[in-house]
Amino acid sequence: MPDIVEISVRPLVEYVFRGGSIESGFRTGSPLTEGTKAHRSIQQTYKETDRKEAYVEADVEYGDIVYRLEGRCDGLLFNGDEVTVEEIKSTAGQLELITEETYPVHWAQAQCYAYMYAKADGKDHMTIRLTYVHRKSEEQKRFERTLTYAELEAFVLMLLQAYDPYARLQLRHAEERGRSIKELPFPFEAYRQGQRKFAGAVYKSIAEQKRLFARAPTGTGKTISTLFPAVKAIGEGVLRRLFYLTAKTTTRTLAEEAFALMRSKGLRLRCVTLTAKEKICFKEETRCQKEFCEFADGYYDRINGALSDLWSGETAINREVIEAYARKHRVCPFEFSLDAAYAADAVICDYNYVYDPRISLKRLLDEQKRQTAVLIDEAHNLVDRGRDMYSAELIKSPFLELKRQTKARSRALYDTVKAVNDAFITLRKKNMEQSGVLLPEEEPQTFIPLLEAFSAEAEAELLGAPEGEYRQLLTDTYYAAQHFIRTAGYYDEKYISFAEFERSEVRMKLLCVDPSGMLRLMGKGYRSQVYFSATLSPISYYRDMLGGEADDYTIAIPSPFRKEQLDVLLLPVSTRYRDRERSKEPIAAMLHQAARERPGNYLVFFPSYEYMNEVYSRFAETEFPGDVLVQQGGMSEEERESFLASFRSGAERTLLGFAVMGGVFSEGVDLTGDRLTGVVVVGVGLPQFGRERDWIRQYFDGTGRNGFDYAYKYPGMNKVLQAGGRLIRTEQDRGTLVLVDDRFLQPDYNALLPEEWKPATILR
Ligand code: SF4
Repeated sequence: MPDIVEISVRPLVEYVFRGGSIESGFRTGSPLTEGTKAHRSIQQTYKETDRKEAYVEADVEYGDIVYRLEGRCDGLLFNGDEVTVEEIKSTAGQLELITEETYPVHWAQAQCYAYMYAKADGKDHMTIRLTYVHRKSEEQKRFERTLTYAELEAFVLMLLQAYDPYARLQLRHAEERGRSIKELPFPFEAYRQGQRKFAGAVYKSIAEQKRLFARAPTGTGKTISTLFPAVKAIGEGVLRRLFYLTAKTTTRTLAEEAFALMRSKGLRLRCVTLTAKEKICFKEETRCQKEFCEFADGYYDRINGALSDLWSGETAINREVIEAYARKHRVCPFEFSLDAAYAADAVICDYNYVYDPRISLKRLLDEQKRQTAVLIDEAHNLVDRGRDMYSAELIKSPFLELKRQTKARSRALYDTVKAVNDAFITLRKKNMEQSGVLLPEEEPQTFIPLLEAFSAEAEAELLGAPEGEYRQLLTDTYYAAQHFIRTAGYYDEKYISFAEFERSEVRMKLLCVDPSGMLRLMGKGYRSQVYFSATLSPISYYRDMLGGEADDYTIAIPSPFRKEQLDVLLLPVSTRYRDRERSKEPIAAMLHQAARERPGNYLVFFPSYEYMNEVYSRFAETEFPGDVLVQQGGMSEEERESFLASFRSGAERTLLGFAVMGGVFSEGVDLTGDRLTGVVVVGVGLPQFGRERDWIRQYFDGTGRNGFDYAYKYPGMNKVLQAGGRLIRTEQDRGTLVLVDDRFLQPDYNALLPEEWKPATILR
């Protein structure tokens, strides 16, 4: 049996024809729909007998390999016996600059389609047409050539000859990977309690192409419970690749360690970790143009060699490996990591690479998505991250400043900047006496043509603007305008818009209150998405907010820890804002008592810095025979590490660490054994009451959901669960959890507490 290599036309021709340098420059980030709109307007002119988005495929033998080519051409046009393949490319650039020779890769793509059609239909020649269409004006430019079947075949064989060595490297790896996965045992002695059930649910979701929402408490071994079944699914051919998405670098390391463990048991699987561009960039200043960066200059001339070298030697492709190979081959480490990610079996990265339209891996084709599972760690974070990704705001002051600075430099740019500034002034005048207003949907839309005009002029100005403050201001304002324009394109009933006024400043925001629609859109096409977290509670809320549907799978795994590992106490005082003054005394007294009766290392979490400092002052009035640390806002990496390093095992003096709920010490911190023996959680974590939060509440009330729960209670209780969850991390840990708030006794709040926290002993 010959080996079969399945490949789409686009990656094939891109592999063979790529060359030249990375060009970034300033390009209008038009809404995603524009390209297809221009495409559609041409396709609408087709006759009824013509075909658009026509699927073509062909098996082509080369050596002992059968290449299974497939693709979708924009148009198949029929005129009697004559058939024309049309490939449409939309551009925001100048059509006059495009000649027949400008893009050989476009010809290559269309010629492949022509060959595949001719082969299937027995044609002895075909006409190939390239149509370039301007996105805005929809003006067109066309080129045509006619080639015989023999010429087309010779061309495709030439492509395969160039691709063949790479394909063989991949085939060898696929064989090794398959064999290694088949023999791969679960990398621990035994499954922990709940772990087998969780891993089984992940496998089933991948196999059945479903979404899964899983609450898996600490100790379930979440990372391995999701990765192991996904890897097995790759081995069985159910899946081609997996993405492991995290919110933080620390959780990325855990995933790398899980792969390392499986590798130590024989796994051969290529795993790439993506690092943010600004972190991994080799240059002092990130300017991705050949004139400024030697790693951008000639990038595409060297990338195939760099990738082949990488794949010949490495499977654990973390940041260090990427950097080493990028230096060796003089290629940009960030673009290199992306190119490697497209070809990898597993990718560990931030949520952005799947869910943020600005950053997502756009070259991932639909059929590749269909073979990809997305595992989303700490998925509770994706609600707020989604809100951030899909929202945009625009501020008046940069436009005012630009108005001052452009007057003497560029009249055309000045006019556009002034128009935006004037529109802000009109908005403020319309809402005199107000500090904040909800806006009707049309209001921000009136800014869009003004921002588009500004962007066009800013792009031209930036081509020649010298380095310095002016360039920086213009660049930042340009990107803010682009983001606003793009976001306005997504605006629907899940958004609200509002403006806030403070003296001469105006801030206008498009707020994606409910990110579910956009998350669903960005996740569309993936085979399966597994959302998991220790605090996905209530699951129905997260399923709703993360774009799930009623028939998605859900699972809640019980805690694997023994009841006696955790002592839960409850101090029923009110920590509501109005009662805070009164609450300080009993909380301070309780802390002294706990430290006296149960010495050890404690983290004490408060809803705000202000409240924390006030309780701390009261606490410090009484002598304390231990040590106290207090979290400060904006602590550096070293300060944070030193804070956590103070929590030592076997310490003789009691240590109290005062910290803020939802801050850097309340999530992702792993102080095992007696490094942490007590956690105190003060309050139910509600976000600060404010105008924006309240609009969120009103929005959900207006959609038939409980606005208070969605805007305040659920996000707040998530912080409580995260903070309390710092305590018991392993089977050896023991400790005391003190919940401070009378609302924990109310049935609605109490229902959101984990079973293992109940019943709590009430402190009187
Ligand atoms: S090394 Fe830095 S500046 Fe150069 S292309 Fe890469 S990201 Fe851009």
